[in-house]
Amino acid sequence: MNLNAQPTSEKFHALPFGSVKPAGWLKEQMQSDIEGFVGNLDQIVPELINDPIYSTERIQKHSKAKDLGNLKEGDAEGDEQYKWWNSETQSNWWDGYVRNVFLLDDQQGIKKASAYVEAILATQDEDGYIGIYDKELRYKFNSENGELWSKASLYRGLLAYYEFSKDEKVFKAVERAVENVMQHYPISASSPFSSGTSFNGGVSHGLTFTDVLERLYFHTKDEKYRAYALFLYNDFSNTYQSEADVQLKNILDPDYKLKSHGVHTFEHIRTLIVAKYASNNPELSRALDTYLERIRQVTTISGGAMGDEWIAEREADATHTGYEYCSLQELLDSYCLLLQKTGHEATGDDIENIFYNAAQGSRNPDHSCIAYLKTDNSFEMLGTKNGEIEPDRKQTRYKYSPAHQDVAVCCNPNAGRISPYFVQNSWMKENETALVATLLMPNVLATTINGHPVQIENITEYPFKHVLKFKITQSEPSTFTFKIRKPNWVQKVKTNEKFRMDNDFIVIEREFSANDMIHISFDAEVQMNLDNSGSHYFTYGALLYALPIKANEIEGKNYGSIFTDYTYEPVSLVKYSFKNDVKTTYKKGKIQTKLLNLQTHKLEQVELIPIGQTILRQVTF
Ligand SMILES: [Zn+2]
Repeated sequence: MNLNAQPTSEKFHALPFGSVKPAGWLKEQMQSDIEGFVGNLDQIVPELINDPIYSTERIQKHSKAKDLGNLKEGDAEGDEQYKWWNSETQSNWWDGYVRNVFLLDDQQGIKKASAYVEAILATQDEDGYIGIYDKELRYKFNSENGELWSKASLYRGLLAYYEFSKDEKVFKAVERAVENVMQHYPISASSPFSSGTSFNGGVSHGLTFTDVLERLYFHTKDEKYRAYALFLYNDFSNTYQSEADVQLKNILDPDYKLKSHGVHTFEHIRTLIVAKYASNNPELSRALDTYLERIRQVTTISGGAMGDEWIAEREADATHTGYEYCSLQELLDSYCLLLQKTGHEATGDDIENIFYNAAQGSRNPDHSCIAYLKTDNSFEMLGTKNGEIEPDRKQTRYKYSPAHQDVAVCCNPNAGRISPYFVQNSWMKENETALVATLLMPNVLATTINGHPVQIENITEYPFKHVLKFKITQSEPSTFTFKIRKPNWVQKVKTNEKFRMDNDFIVIEREFSANDMIHISFDAEVQMNLDNSGSHYFTYGALLYALPIKANEIEGKNYGSIFTDYTYEPVSLVKYSFKNDVKTTYKKGKIQTKLLNLQTHKLEQVELIPIGQTILRQVTF
């Protein structure tokens, strides 16, 4: 592989974190998350969040695996990963926490975030190291470790903090810490991913260090970061990996089927994107296309990034393949990077699908908690996947919890990250005179155009309603280009504005007054679609609709506070199937149709609601 970084053209430009803030229903939901488990995970599992793993309790030669309070039954992956695990839990949680409190202007939370960042910076060694290993161990591994992973998860949050606060010392600290990695794992003269031939999930997660390199490149435009990212991908491809889906040789093998731990498979898309755009190498370009096609095969109709928790060479299925909340965040983040690089409007539809359907549908609509694993058709949530017994694992992930400590506290931190990442990527720039509304949601953008400040509020109840009002505020009138992604389901665009289409982007070019407004709305229809098994499902606009199933709620573990685990059993489980030529209508957020009751064999009038408002449900018929 040619490892020389060469600049390539990218369609859109990302904006610094904090340029876009949530509004409307989305802001309310984020507010309740911060009052709920997202803002209180350090109270729910204090021993994990407060473990000083980056400071006084860095891992030494004789450190023991930590007790994380989980069950570990049928856990074949070994104890080694439990040494670094708290770094992921803490850093992913803080990353989400810091982003939420900034976006919500939560002054108390911002104070707490600042104190955390100061404390982390105080752990930096003379030579720049910020990490979890003492001097004797660091950078000298021949087995499973979390050297790069503990840094990737931490530095992502620190960079977000810098982008919002503009505190230069935080940026300098990350720059020095990355320099320390590049010195000890010199480019093309070391092998950071060599770690023996056993399970190495932490080493493999470490490939997301390219997230940090990509962001440093975004800030500095220094090609050394992209060259280093390319080196990391090359080294990963040429060493033993237990999670090997993204290795170049596997992508180029036409018979290879995705099999790894799902979350790895989805987060590694970003590395491949960065490597492709760093190298301009046609082989990597083809590899990315192949990999993305494979990813589509393992994504359910709701955008569920499959893996419960391994993909295991299966294809996505509405009932039999579960998806992990972590994977939803990782696939969403990967698609956001892809959208920025390619400008493909269809990627925007994929991102909205994940957020509005799979992710909303994995939240508990009544309590502050999420499902660790979820299926599109969800007939019970009693721990196992719709009642299936797994012979080698006591499955408890199919339930709702504010922590999921009995398994691993990975999904809840990621559930705190997904909304800020979704919001951050909803506006991009095409150039200095063109703004692009890439994802649709209620939000407020503050940026510059032609060098002068402009604020645009998207006043909307999207995706529940399809009316968008963009309120533009600037100090004086100016001319710029305003692009809005037209979702793939739109039947008709309605606006008084003069516009042209550029692929599936609505383009409005005119002089905007200091206080201006763009009104636009979309016509939608109920769509009846077929999944890959030939079953039918219903969508209206961006939302997937489900037939809710009445359930008994069972309280589980209580966390000595308002937070509780919940499981659900159906009151009486009746399944339905699709009948052709039945009248289907949409009214006030609901789809009315008739489905065949498989118990009585009679057609019944039913009402479908958005999947995000359900717990137990049937989605495919
Ligand atoms: Zn998880």
